[in-house]
Amino acid sequence: MTTLDDPLRAVLGDRTATVLADALDLHTVGDLLRHYPRRYATRGELTDLDSLVEGEQVTIVAEVASTRTRPLRGRRGSVLEVTVTDGTDRIDLTFFGTRVGYHARQLRSGQRGLFAGRVSTYRNRRQLAHPDYLLLGSGNGDGTTDSPTEQARSFATELIPVYPATAKLASWRIAQCVEIVLRQLDDIPDPLPEHVRASEGLPGLRDALYQIHRPAEQADVATARQRLKWEEALVLQVALAQRRLQAATVTAHARATVPDGLLARFDQALPFTLTAAQHRAGDTIATDLSATVPMHRLLQGDVGSGKTVVALRAMLQVVDAGGQAVLLAPTEVLAQQHHRALTQLLGPLARAGQLDAADRATRLGLLTGSQSAAERRREMVAAASGESGIVVGTHALLEDEVTFADLGLVVVDEQHRFGVEQRAALRTKAGDNRPHMLVMTATPIPRTVAMTVYGDLDTVTLDDVPEGRAPVATHVVPTLEKPHFLERTYARMREEVAQQRQVYIVCPRIGGDETPAEAAPADGSTGSAADTDGDPSQNSAGQEPHRATPQGVVDLADELAEGPLSGLRLAVLHGRLPAEEKDATMRRFAAGEIDVLVATTVIEVGVDVPTASVMAIMDADRFGVSQLHQLRGRVGRSTLPGLCLLVTAAATGTPARDRLDAVARTTNGFQLSRVDLLQRREGDVLGAAQSGRRSSLRLLTLVEDEDLITTARQVADRIVTADPHLETYPSLAAAVTAIQADPEYLEKT
Ligand code: ADP
Ligand code: MG
Repeated sequence: MTTLDDPLRAVLGDRTATVLADALDLHTVGDLLRHYPRRYATRGELTDLDSLVEGEQVTIVAEVASTRTRPLRGRRGSVLEVTVTDGTDRIDLTFFGTRVGYHARQLRSGQRGLFAGRVSTYRNRRQLAHPDYLLLGSGNGDGTTDSPTEQARSFATELIPVYPATAKLASWRIAQCVEIVLRQLDDIPDPLPEHVRASEGLPGLRDALYQIHRPAEQADVATARQRLKWEEALVLQVALAQRRLQAATVTAHARATVPDGLLARFDQALPFTLTAAQHRAGDTIATDLSATVPMHRLLQGDVGSGKTVVALRAMLQVVDAGGQAVLLAPTEVLAQQHHRALTQLLGPLARAGQLDAADRATRLGLLTGSQSAAERRREMVAAASGESGIVVGTHALLEDEVTFADLGLVVVDEQHRFGVEQRAALRTKAGDNRPHMLVMTATPIPRTVAMTVYGDLDTVTLDDVPEGRAPVATHVVPTLEKPHFLERTYARMREEVAQQRQVYIVCPRIGGDETPAEAAPADGSTGSAADTDGDPSQNSAGQEPHRATPQGVVDLADELAEGPLSGLRLAVLHGRLPAEEKDATMRRFAAGEIDVLVATTVIEVGVDVPTASVMAIMDADRFGVSQLHQLRGRVGRSTLPGLCLLVTAAATGTPARDRLDAVARTTNGFQLSRVDLLQRREGDVLGAAQSGRRSSLRLLTLVEDEDLITTARQVADRIVTADPHLETYPSLAAAVTAIQADPEYLEKT
């Protein structure tokens, strides 16, 4: 009587269970059966050995070409070198010790097998040292593997499951465990309701698990995957539907527009006309704010689409209605910049208490971690008394001691920097009523992702940009193929500076005296992700082969000041600098007192200096696609044509270079976020896979399974509307509870 909740220990014994727990974090029968094969090898197929990447843990299908044994120098035992081939390329397997004779007898030339190990290089030849292996098919029949059943299987079936394996546990050892567990499995409860299975023509859970682990043919795999994806999608959508239902029970104060308020006067004084999209979004938000249902809205718009003005208009509407609004920025640099920008946009409207204030003006507050105690106290009093109608700030706003007289609206700039707790902390500051919530993001998100990840947010999109914007021309500068392009890049920068324009140079590291291991220091001033200057290559973790240390800000700035950019006014900006210094540098750059700013990704989001026209991104392959697009958005912010140069040592045809070419080809952020999503594991989007943790989405891909997710959402809504607590769906309810227990489930909602 085995069920999915049973510990593996009970079925496989202590030793095996311990290995599975340690190596793969698999503890229950369900964990193991949800560890799906990554792909299926066929006995006829050979792995393309040329494609192996140094340092990767691989499972390959190859044929033994030759073997050679020689004594170990100065020690007992010998070395067995086995060369295996895919018909074209070769790789060596090496075994050391006193028992290599055993392997020599197994691995005879002509034998085919699965070989698992880590790819390394020794004397310019690639090898797997001490690989684990499973021989296939040529009838040696002398018990080379532990399980005769497994041997028989691999003869009998064409499809050999290949599992995500680790150094400690080869794929076929996982397969053996799965085999044992499957044989003992009882009739297990199925989270997918009967009526859904019937209408979608999907098999039951037990059948699907058999088919995905032990397919007789490819069609079995497809059927099983479809069914398992459906389950993932439905469980997630039911959880989100329940949450939407719950959210509908709390109320907010309605903040309807008033005639002749600050908003009306702001609109009259605005130095430009709003774009059509800004109008549309503004109307939608104004309607939301006028209701007693708390607004939960995502405002998405490509970089430069003018989200700040839309948010500011919403904030003014709330102030007009007697409430307060906060604008929460992910970094100190951005908070300061927003404060400056709003001060300028509002003019006399934000000078309450000052001589030149407009009638019924409000006060614009600022709260950041780097303020002096006295400043901070003054700001806190102004917020608590209601004197500050709008308060801009960083995470410092979230602290318990910060209170408001009547908080009506929370605007979050750049959602991806904020987690669940931060949002919850802000909500509590509005007392019994929920504040309305507006989340701005410049990373356009495909519809499915918005629906899945931001399941309880409504979306409104700015799909145009203010007129007269020149598009940013983007070029890849390949330092290996065309080294002289780099000189031209610097010459171009000098020309721009000669015309009173400014230049950004972005590097992946801070550099200076830091060791490479310290490349991602936390920024003490805000504790925010954007200021950490974290190694951006984590965006494409696992795809990049080992490479030399990338450019650092400090070193490059020194080099340029003495070399190609000597005579220009250079400054550096990175997360290790004190907050005042960062702010002062940004100010001077914005004022045109600095020509070239050499920076880390601290400038990634939102920094707005219209006279900056050129950006060079060094080691651009170290950055993710969306991140490059964000960075590029820092130039071309006025009518000046922008230029973005992606400097890279990545060779043509490599995945890294393909990504850069994609960024150079299009300025459509929406398309690029799809490229990004396709390249990253979906789990990353949900915040889990990065750390190697299991995500509740294993098979479902947000981009490719759009239709399925859409249908699942409709089905989920129907189920939850009819039976909010899932009383008639106990197995589904259990599955929903299980994903809710995962602290990282839907990080971002
Ligand atoms: P983002 O959406 O990237 O946050 P911002 O809100 O920073 O963009 O706006 C970019 C720049 O465009 C700012 O300088 C802003 O004042 C300006 N801007 C916004 N809306 C308009 C408009 N309708 N016409 C002209 N300029 C605008
Ligand atoms: Mg912005």
